[in-house]
Amino acid sequence: MQDYVLPHGNETEYGCESHCMRVCARIDLDVIVQNLKNMRDNVPEGTKVLAVIKTDGYGFGAVPIARRLEQEDFIWGYATATAEEAFELRDNGVKKPILVLGYTFPYAYDRMIEEGIRPAVFRYDMLDEIRNRVEHLRAQGRDVSMKIHIAVDTGMSRIGVTPDDDGIRFIKAANETNGIEIEGIFTHFARADEADLTNAHETKDLYKAFLARVHDELGLNIPIKHCANSASIIDMPESSMDMVRAGVSLYGMWPSEETSHNKVIIKPSMELVSHIVYIKDLPKGTPVSYGGTFVTDRTMRVATIPVGYGDGYPRSLSNKGFVIINGQKARILGRVCMDQFMVDVTDIVTAREGDKVTLIGRDGDMEITIEELGDMSGRFNYELACDLNKRIPRVYKGLV
Ligand SMILES: *Cc1c(COP(=O)(O)O)cnc(C)c1O
Repeated sequence: MQDYVLPHGNETEYGCESHCMRVCARIDLDVIVQNLKNMRDNVPEGTKVLAVIKTDGYGFGAVPIARRLEQEDFIWGYATATAEEAFELRDNGVKKPILVLGYTFPYAYDRMIEEGIRPAVFRYDMLDEIRNRVEHLRAQGRDVSMKIHIAVDTGMSRIGVTPDDDGIRFIKAANETNGIEIEGIFTHFARADEADLTNAHETKDLYKAFLARVHDELGLNIPIKHCANSASIIDMPESSMDMVRAGVSLYGMWPSEETSHNKVIIKPSMELVSHIVYIKDLPKGTPVSYGGTFVTDRTMRVATIPVGYGDGYPRSLSNKGFVIINGQKARILGRVCMDQFMVDVTDIVTAREGDKVTLIGRDGDMEITIEELGDMSGRFNYELACDLNKRIPRVYKGLV
């Protein structure tokens, strides 16, 4: 535990150990760096790596991760979903380039221009707004321009210009807009995480053909062309282009069950731990938790864990999930409450109040991954990680 510390500014008067007794996510930044290096080693040498740390780093903590990755030369920069997430990184001393992957509303452009934060651009009115903001700043004597990445829609139907004549016209207009520098162009795969990669390869070919048109018809060589997410870094490394966008796998999670699990070594970087706050013996026939959905079928020893759906621990684990106590499985009894739930420790004779409880991670020979927890709760692994909320303190190993 000593290896894990609260991020700077989050320290409490109680000390880390006490603060983390109720529940705590322990994140190993060394594992995250190693996952990224393993992903880098799977793609052609010299490919830039963009670390996708949107949604507070998928719940793992964007600032501590970025501060650590500032020291890694092979990391080109970071991707966030919103301007505010990018500003938070800058407020915490993060200096590398940041790309905002979604649409950015114009109010944020001034600060983005000042701080080298790149928007994803795909609407004509964005070009006008950017030109206005740059000209406004230049009128104040500032020598600025805005670096942008053009988003191309090759099959997500989410954001981006179409890879056709309209798209070519848009890129021409962007290129001719005063104050804009087209640094990058990207698309996103809808189906790179499937066993059958036919669709992903077709998408990649469509995108490549469009890039060739941009080059041939506009005479434009956009420096950073990118399309790969974690799934394609692992299973389609030939699609890497100038840069790859590493997301879910940097945290040690898998894009899907169908993604190859043997090509790149990816290790879980988070443990979610709590401690038993109460143990009691219940006679046969005693209901447990709201609604009495579980009733003891014999004399049972039941432990209370001070975590609940108010922390983002899924209520759908009621009567389904399990935790690990002293290296043994303890199944959840009855409904998960907002702040507490009960587990069966009848057969874990060593269990005592104050003992460590592993909700995610490994204890002895037993392990619970975020994927398993997702399966048991009927949720997506990405979603489950993002939902672990602010009430859970995060502590880090390898913090800088
Ligand atoms: C979230 C996201 C990624 C990262 O995807 P993973 O599956 O987590 O690797 C990459 N690119 C875009 C545009 C995204 O929105």
